[in-house]
Amino acid sequence: MGIKRPISSFRSMFGLKCPRCRKGKLFTRRGLFVYREMLKMPENCAVCNQKFEIEPGFWIGAMWISYPFVVAIEMPFFFLALFADDNNVWIYFGLMIVAFLITWPFLVRIGRSAWIHVSIRYDKGLE
Ligand SMILES: [Zn+2]
Repeated sequence: MGIKRPISSFRSMFGLKCPRCRKGKLFTRRGLFVYREMLKMPENCAVCNQKFEIEPGFWIGAMWISYPFVVAIEMPFFFLALFADDNNVWIYFGLMIVAFLITWPFLVRIGRSAWIHVSIRYDKGLE
């Protein structure tokens, strides 16, 4: 019914979709909180055949997107640990590790998705 409008680049990015067709999946396993095979990606988009790793080492750039967020999340715990009583230091270090484990898969996946979305434009001709 009617013309199906493509999803926005924002939704495509957070939905971990292929930036070119916004339909194919970037990662083999779905979801933002995946631990097993969290970085496993098909070589090409199943829908439009776009190659995901455009050049060797392409994903290294994605680390620079995730990295500041990791630092921002870890910093409060680091300072809490730094100024905590001796008894509480390990609690804050523990929380630091927990925060890292919870947010890391999310951040690396979004980092890669954001990185490929700025590198590959949406192709309207693929409708
Ligand atoms: Zn695609």
